[in-house]
Amino acid sequence: MAYERKEISIEKIREQEKICAEINEKLGEKPRLAMVDTYGCQQNEADSEKIRGYLAEMGYGFTMNEFEADIIVVNTCAVREHAEMRVLGNVGQLNHAKKAKPNQIIAVCGCMVQQEHMAEKIRKSYPIVDMVFGPHELWRFPELLKQVMFSKKRKRVFETSPCDGTVAEGIPLKRDGSVKAWLSIMYGCNNFCTYCIVPYVRGRERSRKPEDIVAEARELVAAGYKEITLLGQNVNSYGKDLGLNVDFADLIRMINDIPGEFLIRFMTSHPKDATEKLFKTMAECEKCAHQLHLPVQSGNDRVLKAMNRHYDSAKYLKQVELARSYMPDLVITTDIIVGFPGETDEEFEDTIRLCEKVRYDAMFTFIYSKRVGTPAATMPDAASREDKQVRFDKLLAVANKISGEKHAEYEGKTLRVLVDGETGKPEFNLSSRTNGGRLVHLKGDPALIGKFVDVEIESSNTWALYGHEK
Ligand code: SF4
Repeated sequence: MAYERKEISIEKIREQEKICAEINEKLGEKPRLAMVDTYGCQQNEADSEKIRGYLAEMGYGFTMNEFEADIIVVNTCAVREHAEMRVLGNVGQLNHAKKAKPNQIIAVCGCMVQQEHMAEKIRKSYPIVDMVFGPHELWRFPELLKQVMFSKKRKRVFETSPCDGTVAEGIPLKRDGSVKAWLSIMYGCNNFCTYCIVPYVRGRERSRKPEDIVAEARELVAAGYKEITLLGQNVNSYGKDLGLNVDFADLIRMINDIPGEFLIRFMTSHPKDATEKLFKTMAECEKCAHQLHLPVQSGNDRVLKAMNRHYDSAKYLKQVELARSYMPDLVITTDIIVGFPGETDEEFEDTIRLCEKVRYDAMFTFIYSKRVGTPAATMPDAASREDKQVRFDKLLAVANKISGEKHAEYEGKTLRVLVDGETGKPEFNLSSRTNGGRLVHLKGDPALIGKFVDVEIESSNTWALYGHEK
């Protein structure tokens, strides 16, 4: 799949930073606040850290109160209709804030507006929105904002030109938190699963250079971060476009070689590219979490083929078995789509059977959502919403039962966890995660946040474990 890899030079990013300084100077001493509202996946969270990085260089502080904000940036998701409806509803609500602050600037960015029909919807039906830009234009945010901010008559700016995608290094970041960090290793996807909009809005797969990723990981460790999550739509195909003979497993080893006590996690893996080399590397690298998110989507081979997933249930089960042979304590989670067009009740039962065989620690289950422009959107779909809801509820019951049973197995055991925050609850006031990513609530001093501690598990339920520091 030939595509043009577009690298944005560091000089261009420095030019954007100059514009940030210019905006900062023009806005003067007057205190100003920005609100960055993020929808969707971890990749969007990571993109919002870049938008906040630029805004901080313009002298903005941050708020999540739209009536206080001088600028609001809504970073959108297009993965399901529900996500888009929520965004449109909330953007509509901003009418009130804009009435209270007529000079307020409202920007909408991200995957939803990279779809032409949604950008047009914003243009026509949401006049309060001043600027719209897609994921590929994020690096130009300062330049686009300047066009709006300093235009004589408030000019609306729309930048969503389709492209295969860019790679931009050096954009300033304002990270959320100081314990766990997102680290993007690649962008885009070449898999074109027939239900998925991501390849159309995030472009072709393009990996960051290993030296840039390792340098960023080193900075994170030096800054005291205790957990680094490597991000990509399909991390297992990392490096294929670089021609450097460095694959994802090699990258994990490079990061594992960085001195310090920290944990490496990653998402998302596509089963078709999950290799024995990866599982062996995860088992041998002491900093790599024994956690694998391996979306199966369906347990029926005809449906998997119609989804263009490039594996069948037998291959998938073999991979799970192989991964567990290297890491018996591996925590495996998955994504499942219920009600893919044409799926029958019998075919759905194959999904239930596969889940009962794998016994996932957690399952993220969704009812199929038609995405404009994807092949599945035009496939015949006889099953009613009610039929699909019945299947969904059945799958959820299976998922919760297995999760509860697996959590109960931890009771009485002592687990090493990373304390990552406060729950706001009196009894179990701290939250933490095991190596495998299981949620553990414990009692303890907030000074433990950012520390690895041993916790004895007292009790559990479907969603979490409860215990005390040993
Ligand atoms: S692998 Fe498939 S489901 Fe995942 S982002 Fe790519 S096209 Fe979408």
